Amino acid sequence: MEFKTLFQILKKHLSDGHDVPYFFRDLMAMLTEVSEDEWGTSKDPSQEGKDKSLRSYAKRGLPKKSAQTIVYRLTPENTIESINSHGEAQRRLLAEDLRGYDPDIDADNVAEKVTDWLVEMIQVSAGLVPQDELTKQKQQQLDAQLKSRYGDYLLAEEENHCAFPGCGRELVLTKGGKISYAYEVSLIDKTAPATPENLLAMCPQCHATYLLDSNKKLCKELKMTKKLLSAHQQSTKLLSGLPLEKGIIGVISRIRKLGEKELSGATYEPVELKRKISPATDMALYTTVSLYVTTYYKSIRDIMVSADKRGLIDYDEVQDQMHAFYRKLKKAGKSKLEIFTEISERIHRVTLQEDLFCQIVVAFFIEKCEVFDADAQ
Ligand SMILES: [Zn+2]
Repeated sequence: MEFKTLFQILKKHLSDGHDVPYFFRDLMAMLTEVSEDEWGTSKDPSQEGKDKSLRSYAKRGLPKKSAQTIVYRLTPENTIESINSHGEAQRRLLAEDLRGYDPDIDADNVAEKVTDWLVEMIQVSAGLVPQDELTKQKQQQLDAQLKSRYGDYLLAEEENHCAFPGCGRELVLTKGGKISYAYEVSLIDKTAPATPENLLAMCPQCHATYLLDSNKKLCKELKMTKKLLSAHQQSTKLLSGLPLEKGIIGVISRIRKLGEKELSGATYEPVELKRKISPATDMALYTTVSLYVTTYYKSIRDIMVSADKRGLIDYDEVQDQMHAFYRKLKKAGKSKLEIFTEISERIHRVTLQEDLFCQIVVAFFIEKCEVFDADAQ
């Protein structure tokens, strides 16, 4: 079926009498979260100019450039929901007009079928070639195998989020106390074997589109993403056996409550921070830590000392633990930025306090020389 035909049938039943540009925008809003500013290609920025382009897209389909802009950012779940929000009678009439293209179509499945067609049309417009039925069946078998063998491992590595750049959809959904899995396992380099280093869990939409895409730049980008994820996973494992003083939760909740009043006048000049973090190689980290130390060091020290006196934490123990985290990550060859991030995240996982406050705590221990050695750049 041509896009033109499908568009006309959809407009007839779903547009509530609106004109072509209006309904085209409506349809695009169902299909993608990308705005018209991004997918529109009209050189004439006036409303008439834009409307004219939409009328031409309605006849000839979406231009390649527009399709490529949205093909990885489609929202088929919204399209289905939106079509299903029309009454049963309306969907039945729509299905009747489409029966020539699919004899099994009815009011109950018309939303899914129309959405499948639209997604495939956009994939084709973007220059991707859909798989034939036999290849599709083989692919489904392979997908199921990869999922059962590597699924759990990859979900843990990606912390249950689609790793496709710019997507980030949740792969494990909870609804009414029930858990459901919405993901597939993709080969990163499709010419290489299915080993864990060459696999990523993705949401069904990114998986389906990437399957058809042979863009080398994208493959390279996914390899980079995978590298970062594995390094992160490795650090998480490195630190997971080490304990962290639970009393630190109390300390962080007191840091959270510090206001301008408590912090003003208590600024502190970092001592030789430049010998621990070089601004030349780690400018962002240096600036961040320097600011945290200047603002918070004195207050945190007071909080720690008083919590230690009252037996809420064992301050020496906390210092030893921070030093142990640092040594372990350093030994594994992690960069300073990685070490800073991993220790902050480790504190976050134990205390469930916001990352920002956990980073402030790590900055404190950098100044205390438990994290990073001076002159060891
Ligand atoms: Zn995705």
